[in-house]
Amino acid sequence: MNYQRFFEDAISQVHAEKRYRVFANLERIAGRFPRAVWRANGTASEITVWCSNDYLCMGQHPDVITAMQQAAGRMGTGAGGTRNISGTNHPLVELEIELAELHNKPSALVFTSGFVSNEAGISTIARLLPNCLILSDELNHSSMIEGVRRSGVEKKIFRHNDLEHLESLLKSADKERAKLIVFESVYSMDGDIAPIKEIADLADRYNAMTYIDEVHAVGMYGAHGGGITEREGLADRIDVIEGTLAKAFGTLGGYITGSRALIDAVRSYAPGFIFTTALPPAIASAATASIRHLKKSSVEREAQQKQAQVTKDELAGAGLPVMPSDTHIVPLLVGDPELCKAASDRLLDMHGIYIQPINYPTVPRGTERLRITPGPYHTDQLIDELRDALLETWTELGIPFADGRSGEVAKSDRIISLVVPKSGG
Ligand SMILES: *Cc1c(COP(=O)(O)O)cnc(C)c1O
Repeated sequence: MNYQRFFEDAISQVHAEKRYRVFANLERIAGRFPRAVWRANGTASEITVWCSNDYLCMGQHPDVITAMQQAAGRMGTGAGGTRNISGTNHPLVELEIELAELHNKPSALVFTSGFVSNEAGISTIARLLPNCLILSDELNHSSMIEGVRRSGVEKKIFRHNDLEHLESLLKSADKERAKLIVFESVYSMDGDIAPIKEIADLADRYNAMTYIDEVHAVGMYGAHGGGITEREGLADRIDVIEGTLAKAFGTLGGYITGSRALIDAVRSYAPGFIFTTALPPAIASAATASIRHLKKSSVEREAQQKQAQVTKDELAGAGLPVMPSDTHIVPLLVGDPELCKAASDRLLDMHGIYIQPINYPTVPRGTERLRITPGPYHTDQLIDELRDALLETWTELGIPFADGRSGEVAKSDRIISLVVPKSGG
């Protein structure tokens, strides 16, 4: 038996579908966000990152770095055990208190990642409810889908943000049956927002529980960074609010918040929580410092919203196909996996601009895109450079502009405004 062949075949399959992933080897430069050193083919060059999920640059905030350094200096690196066996370090206990407070919930539980928090949270909650039916938005993140799958309970998928469809599914289930609606607040590939209030209303009407993923909203929305549920005053209408410490909070880890009994039950039953080493004190301290900063400072949030709007306006004004988005996320439609990869490669090689291509299965086929995440430190000048680099790339590769014309057709009347590429090819 040639075992290796099966792995090679699996990789060939990914190549054939034009979705083989290549990682950029980066070294971020603390204090100079969004700049980073990129290493490829034996050379190192400085580039601008336009696709980071360290949305507010909190991963480089002096208070956050100091918190991490000091905790590591005082308590060492690892937690030294699972939560149950010596790993429950004091900074982690403080972090959970901070998170419960952030979402105005009685209790919080921290996991090693947002992925694990969804997988363990959703599966455990649904498994503990008798004969539970899960209602899941069709665009939910992979970690939520894994949670639904692992629970082993019956599931029904509702069309994205479609209240009528959700209601029809709720209606067809027995009113007395346990039901869990799982959805996100900000959908990060399109940048749209769920109708949270209406979903909570339906949950009340049909006697369902609600579980929301606020991963792409915590730190960034609400007066204290409590997410869209805080901004809209809806936190107390949602049973479980889940979030990450790895995106706007700039560190690592995930969490759920909710009632005391629910959190205690997940703590007591979820293998993904119990049988793994606790988050290290340095990371917990850094996360708490980041949350505390964003609770009292709105400077970062406001600058991010402003620069995201400037980016949308500049790119759309130049005729680039910016997809509609209600948030800080700026998706740019390419619509073809090979072109999407080629555009990303060209931006990096010739313009020193890094935007990872987003292809199937992360987004549906035919909607391949560049997903741009402007932050408070993407200056107007960097935005101008981005626009010019994108125009050159769209034109050169023949990618359709917003008006449907391909770059080749549009080339003659657009080429004038373009920057001269740094190198040939
Ligand atoms: C990134 C992401 C997660 C996972 O969070 P991590 O902390 O990176 O594991 C969960 N949900 C959504 C919607 C995400 O985009």
